[in-house]
Amino acid sequence: METKFKNLSDIQKVFHSEEVCREQLERIRWNGNPACPHCGTASKPYKLKDGKTYKCSDKDCKQKFTVTVGTIFENTKLPLQKWFIAMYLVTSHKKGISSLQLSRDLGITQKAAWFVNHRIREMLRESQPVMLQGTVEIDETYVGGKLSNKHVGERKKQHELKGTLKGRPTGDTKTAVLGLVQRDGKLVQQVMKATTKKDILPLIEKHVKKGSTMHTDEYRTYQQLTKLGYKHETVAHLYNEYFRDGVHTNTIEGAFSLLKRGIIGIFHYVSAKHLNRYCDEFSYRYNTRQQGESERFCNAITGASGKRLKYQQLIGKK
Ligand SMILES: [Zn+2]
Repeated sequence: METKFKNLSDIQKVFHSEEVCREQLERIRWNGNPACPHCGTASKPYKLKDGKTYKCSDKDCKQKFTVTVGTIFENTKLPLQKWFIAMYLVTSHKKGISSLQLSRDLGITQKAAWFVNHRIREMLRESQPVMLQGTVEIDETYVGGKLSNKHVGERKKQHELKGTLKGRPTGDTKTAVLGLVQRDGKLVQQVMKATTKKDILPLIEKHVKKGSTMHTDEYRTYQQLTKLGYKHETVAHLYNEYFRDGVHTNTIEGAFSLLKRGIIGIFHYVSAKHLNRYCDEFSYRYNTRQQGESERFCNAITGASGKRLKYQQLIGKK
């Protein structure tokens, strides 16, 4: 994108009309080579008179499409300008933005804002599994309750819970989340059914390269890491020993703490069903923390392709 922007006011100036928004979207998505989403052919489509619809030139296809087909913006009644502002608000606010606040800021209903928020989260989700290496901190937590990451007393309780919450009944408000973060690298936060080794170890193998050094607390599941081909260092939280030769899990605890403060302070309540989307949103902001606003915004749009998320899908009905 040629124009750089640093704040909401810039966004409104840069994306001052629907045409401009659409052109930017076409540029980011197609880079001058519009591709038919119906047949995938590379033959050049015709642009129709309305300036936004294309017609596929493949003689067996001939279907019409616009740049929003096959993206989170498909069939939206909301102007792209409002989408772009929403995307800016979600990606630049440290803890995100509630659908209530978003509905006020955009002048749309809360239901529409809720849907926009979730579609943006879908856009921010990594399309390929993130692979971490080097030194990787791993920890698990429960979201939805009042557990704090900070106090030793609370940590003790959490350790006790790790042993007792395994087969907890459905309807429990606490949801287990595994966090993995590479030092000076990316963060992955993933909802799990429980915190047994069957839940935790496959996720670690999916996201961390063998041979990496893992820093964890003393939870017994992590004692298996050496067998799986990882180097393993333990932090003894229960004895208040947070630092030992750079062995710590402070980074992942910081990420958990932000996720929890966001959910308590901004979103108030998040159902277990949608928690993974919030994890994606928070991880995205962490993983793009070194990017400028323009760069982060364009990267977010790049993630809009191939992701649709219909309302019925979101609320769990076919
Ligand atoms: Zn086609």
